[in-house]
Amino acid sequence: MRKFKTESKKLLDLMINSIYTNREIFLRELISNASDAEDKLYFKSLTDKSIKLKKDDLVIRVSFDEGARTITVSDSGIGMTAEELEKNLGVIAHSDSLEFKQAQEAAALEAAEGAKGKASKSKKKPTSAAVDIIGQFGVGFYSSFMVASKVRVLSKAYGQDQAWAWESDGIEGYTISPAEKEGHGTDVILTIKENTDEDNYDSYLTEPGLKELIRRYSNYVRYPVQMECMHQRKLDLPEDAPEDAIPEWETYYETETINSMVPIWKRRKQDVKQEEYNEFYKSQFHDFADPARTITVHAEGAISYDVLMFIPSRPPFDLYSKDYKKGLELYRSNVLIMDKCEDLLPDHYNFVRGVVDSQDLTLNISRETLQQNNQLRAIAKKIESKITGELSAMCKNEREAYEEFFENFGRGLKFGIYTSYGAFASELAPLLLFYSAKQEKMITFDEYLEAAADGQEAIYYAAGEDLDRLAKMPMVTSVVGKGYDVLLCTQDVDEFCLQTMMQYQEKQLLNVAGGDLGLESEADKEAAEAATEANAELFAAMKEALGERVVKVAVSTRLTDAPAALTAQGPVSLEMEKIMAQMPDAQGIKSERVLEINAQHPVFEVLKKAQKNNHDKLVSYTNILYNQALLVEGLPVEDPVAFSQAICDLMK
Ligand code: ADP
Repeated sequence: MRKFKTESKKLLDLMINSIYTNREIFLRELISNASDAEDKLYFKSLTDKSIKLKKDDLVIRVSFDEGARTITVSDSGIGMTAEELEKNLGVIAHSDSLEFKQAQEAAALEAAEGAKGKASKSKKKPTSAAVDIIGQFGVGFYSSFMVASKVRVLSKAYGQDQAWAWESDGIEGYTISPAEKEGHGTDVILTIKENTDEDNYDSYLTEPGLKELIRRYSNYVRYPVQMECMHQRKLDLPEDAPEDAIPEWETYYETETINSMVPIWKRRKQDVKQEEYNEFYKSQFHDFADPARTITVHAEGAISYDVLMFIPSRPPFDLYSKDYKKGLELYRSNVLIMDKCEDLLPDHYNFVRGVVDSQDLTLNISRETLQQNNQLRAIAKKIESKITGELSAMCKNEREAYEEFFENFGRGLKFGIYTSYGAFASELAPLLLFYSAKQEKMITFDEYLEAAADGQEAIYYAAGEDLDRLAKMPMVTSVVGKGYDVLLCTQDVDEFCLQTMMQYQEKQLLNVAGGDLGLESEADKEAAEAATEANAELFAAMKEALGERVVKVAVSTRLTDAPAALTAQGPVSLEMEKIMAQMPDAQGIKSERVLEINAQHPVFEVLKKAQKNNHDKLVSYTNILYNQALLVEGLPVEDPVAFSQAICDLMK
């Protein structure tokens, strides 16, 4: 007996103990896996000419045995070797990843809290975190254990002589042993649990029950899903039978294909129920949640094609990892030719899943790139504009749903602008949302400009770690105090994106913590310059005290309440410096810091006095002001011990 890894075991526990109520999806998961396995063999056959597949070779068979309480899902796909059984079924997929562990802890916590609350009822209630793990991390195969007390996987890899059986009760571990099997492929044999007071499993062991599940969840699987179905026919009576003879019935079995296999993308949207799209999406793309959006295109003309796309309702766990592969499935007249055609999606829409089918594609398309193929390029262009159109309509008409979308995928849109050096800005910028300091909600650039006074020349923003802190920053409050809105940016990519854009609708994008905002009246500016000049010696002394840490100390034209603040002149802001320092190849890029002093603040008089009477005090005060400004910016104080010592000295 080999033991499950701890993480897998914990998850199995959670699942078996029925946190997830929608158990019947186990069949969808097994059929999806079977379909994938047949795809793999089919793809192999395209390059390996020794593999000869006949039309009927690739089918999926579902059968059951009521007496033995078993359901079997068989495929004639690629199969698994002993090593593959170990690797694929011994650990729950990705269960060693950090995200997985965090999600699992959350699920366990929720389950525990549910159990504390309503002991009896909570057992049946799905907890969102648990559903989330199942969904995000695709623990498809393991959902079998929600209905089965034992699972046996009998598999023979294509081209191998030896078959292997993997067996488990889903509790402690599993065994793998040599076995007998005719032909390549996999049989998954579930021994269905006995009924309990609360749960009835018997409906899975009936022909109508299984047919119903196949039609509901796997209708559009592209291989035939077949069952031996029971039929009855009346036997002909012998010719000499008396007139009142009771006719006899005979039972016989016939192979039937249960799923429709009609490509759902060929059907018009108005003829398909959203429910059907949802089931197709979940079965095809291994998600447990319904999609947030379904998008279709039917194009006719020089090239005709059908597109069916989905925006998931949440990001896959690996979206931001480098292993993530974008792409749409590409079909030519219903025949799959590529399962992830990358060229059909721009990077910023990498989260979109879907299918493209065209009879007009050239046969060798899978070996061509977008550059070489005009047809593909035309389709990709249409797809991109269709997605943009859908998102923009959603943003206008269904704001709540859009905000949720943006929360999930907005970061990718911003990266799209940044990494394309602004090439996609005109397409993507109208789709961005930022938090408005004045309106206290997420708004678009257009909404910002609509609310702005006539003649406002710029769009103001501030970047930092969290909204509360940003809203209180002196530079933000002073700009808001003057009647302008400020967009509060809290994502790492924000400032890079905004700096790449430089402007929106010819309005400059300005960081309120940057250099001159042009908001001060000429009189204010002159007064500040005069004050800086009049106190040139004071500022020189303060600059000397701070050394290389700042490029300049000067009177501020914009501070109202705070005694001092740090700003940056030049292109690198304080926030960008912070973010770049965290990058793996940090090159120590520094902002040009300016310590701005509020000449109206009582502290300014104190500084002037210290400069006259006590140089040491001035140095100490300067350091305190500088460190306070760092704290307000959310930057670390360089020498916390010295800083707290300086504060104590003040108090003495
Ligand atoms: P997922 O399908 O999301 O990868 P599963 O837990 O359902 O996760 O399956 C794990 C892996 O086991 C699959 O990725 C596949 O490699 C393998 N597998 C499962 N079922 C089959 C099958 N019927 N034939 C071949 N391989 C399979």
